[in-house]
Amino acid sequence: MCGIVGYVGSRSAIPVLLEGLRRLEYRGYDSAGVAIVRANKLAVYKSKGKVREVAQTVPKRVRASVGIGHTRWATHGEPNDQNAHPHVDSGNRIAIVHNGIIENAHQIRRHLEERGVALASDTDSELLAHLIAFERETAATLADAVRQVLKSISGAYGLCVVDRDEPGQIVVARNGSPAVIGIGDGEMFVASDSVALVRHTTNVVYLDDGDVATVRSDGYEITDFDASPVERDESAIETSIGSLEKDGFDHFMLKEIADQPDCIQRTLRGRVDDRFNSARLDGLNLSAQDLLSIRRIKILGCGSAYISGLIGGRLIEQLARVPVDAEPAAEFRYRNAIIEPDTLYLAVSQSGETYDTQIAVEEIKRKGGTVRGIVNAVGSSIARTCDGGVYLHAGPEISVVATKTFLSTLTVFVLIGLFLGRMRDMSPGEGERLTTALAAFPGLIADLVEQHEQIEALARKYVDFKNAYFIGRNLGYGMAMEGALKLKEVSYLHAEAYPASELKHGPLALVSPETVTVALIPDDDLIERNLASIEEIKARRGPVVAITQVPLSGVSVDDEIVVPKTHPALAPLAMLIPLQILAYYVALHRGCDIDQPRNLAKSVTVE
Ligand code: GLU
Repeated sequence: MCGIVGYVGSRSAIPVLLEGLRRLEYRGYDSAGVAIVRANKLAVYKSKGKVREVAQTVPKRVRASVGIGHTRWATHGEPNDQNAHPHVDSGNRIAIVHNGIIENAHQIRRHLEERGVALASDTDSELLAHLIAFERETAATLADAVRQVLKSISGAYGLCVVDRDEPGQIVVARNGSPAVIGIGDGEMFVASDSVALVRHTTNVVYLDDGDVATVRSDGYEITDFDASPVERDESAIETSIGSLEKDGFDHFMLKEIADQPDCIQRTLRGRVDDRFNSARLDGLNLSAQDLLSIRRIKILGCGSAYISGLIGGRLIEQLARVPVDAEPAAEFRYRNAIIEPDTLYLAVSQSGETYDTQIAVEEIKRKGGTVRGIVNAVGSSIARTCDGGVYLHAGPEISVVATKTFLSTLTVFVLIGLFLGRMRDMSPGEGERLTTALAAFPGLIADLVEQHEQIEALARKYVDFKNAYFIGRNLGYGMAMEGALKLKEVSYLHAEAYPASELKHGPLALVSPETVTVALIPDDDLIERNLASIEEIKARRGPVVAITQVPLSGVSVDDEIVVPKTHPALAPLAMLIPLQILAYYVALHRGCDIDQPRNLAKSVTVE
């Protein structure tokens, strides 16, 4: 969470920092600020609000060649001007920006107060500025002071520090929250995400946990906490600047919904094996023998990534007849889970930086388990920690709510199901039916993303409702969960998902003309049962929107969206599109901040 950016070079730092913050705003957007070192003075400009509002309060003509910036997602202390980053020490010598959480903040705060320090904010981050300033009085360099302080704190951080009296450098440290150095020509950049750097450089170095880097305009050096030098490889960013712009769409969410046919093409590219009617997933780094000895699969993730695992699990089970279950990564990591040698663990994360998922991965590895990543961001922490996996290749996703990466993740699960299925008892004929359907799938999704008008009309009809149910069975239930999550995240309309079979065991009590139910009806064996559930709702005068693969004759629903038929494994994926478009338009007509919903942020790098 939170965006960090830093610049050191001969340009004016402030415009570079503000532009970087604008690109990173999806990571946190409750307040923002910059600090610059100029003529041996530290100047800080920060306040509550979005980057564009904060930018208006920053004097653009102030020239400085070194600075750091931050866009915040509050963990300690409400979003207000005082709690905005950067934070400084009492002598206004040291400024810091921090992404993450300091776990022993309580103790440090008491210790500093006992030393007579007047703290200016409620944040855990400010404490670091004071600690570093104290240490700096005796340390030989700023980097030494930072290393010393980091030995005494516990928690997660991506951290940038500048020192008024040692200008021309930024000290960067990383533990659990991402940090990347961008290499320019006579100038250097720092960021919490390489998307902030694409305008300036494609050459980057990702720091690892425990690294402390000193970055100057002409180079950088990286050490561990004991000041021993460490080497990190330089790599190239693949992101194009175009993929970070709205391209004429009103919102990134809409752009990313429309991008889905291309996304699936990229996810599938080179991975469908027409010769054996199977999939090619060499990145998993598992031999055929390893794969045959897998007795079960466990999928871990948070939010939409977890829901993708619930659906993906059912898909793999159906296609490969291997038992699969999914669990929220944070639940898994705290419950002392049993790691079994014949289980394959799959960690799903768009950013590859989701903290709880990262810790779950480390726990599995520590206990000797086999874990692989399903990740979008190439080179991210989870991708690097796992000994292999499958990249989504969905491209950058800027809107906070996941759309295209969710669909790409499900596509990867279909590929895994096909791959494992064809090693077990899926026939070549069945494999061929699925590979043929996969080849046609981007076209089918392209037709669906065009269907805006009908869904926008639907959204207008239900925009003032207070509650919605989403129901389905088997794979349809997983899609119902995602539909409900999308709607509540982006439009703040209260939405719950239930297995349709559970209706009469409780939720039916709340069905009334004021509660709309969205029913997901794939063309599967359960269609009659789904229709019976709809009848139960209609009998209580509840409005029903059916998203269905078969036109519903004989059952009168209030609204019907028909999704074309495809292979049964792909049906739930197709149903996702109307759910996304519905959430988008409900949010639009409720006047919500679509790409940056309240209280949320992308890339959840805190616990
Ligand atoms: N814990 C810090 C705060 O609440 C940093 C939060 C962030 O990562 O944005 O200010």
